[in-house]
Amino acid sequence: MRIAIDIDSTLHHYWDQFSATVRRRYGVDLPYERQTTWAIRHLEPEQVHASVLETHTEVQIAAAEPYPGAVEVVNGWHAAGHYIHITSHRTADAHAATERWLAAIGLRYDDLHCSYDKITRCREIGIDLLIDDSPVNLEQALEAGMAGATLEHPWNREIVAARPVVAAADWPALAAALAPLIERDSRS
Ligand SMILES: [Mg+2]
Repeated sequence: MRIAIDIDSTLHHYWDQFSATVRRRYGVDLPYERQTTWAIRHLEPEQVHASVLETHTEVQIAAAEPYPGAVEVVNGWHAAGHYIHITSHRTADAHAATERWLAAIGLRYDDLHCSYDKITRCREIGIDLLIDDSPVNLEQALEAGMAGATLEHPWNREIVAARPVVAAADWPALAAALAPLIERDSRS
């Protein structure tokens, strides 16, 4: 199976980095539990953009700690012969730092793509399954005929309830929930 995996809020808990950056820059609190939509309230779009850029500097990328089990699960899929495409909504300038982070956490993958057109790239390389917390990306993946999966976050509850998206609270549970889909593909 060809699996695409997002980084922020998928491989590590990005919200703490993002909300701390926003608090320092603008004095605005963004509690995780209240972030029930994809839109960031109380900030202008350029403030969101500047904050996201800051979280994708070398120091912050290097400081990210993977969710428990994430690296083990992905490495298990890679060892079983599945194609692992790491895809992140960050500028090409962040590519080298992201590569260093993936090496530091010991995550094995086939391809890394940092850009703002995730789904286009996923279609080009024939991705079967996208694991991503963004309801926007999940919806586009489903429309393009891919399967979708995510860790559960307040901002994707709605799409998880409404659409056939595989969701779980943590990586071990997500791996278990995806096992039927991934194993079925391996046999075909
Ligand atoms: Mg994400």
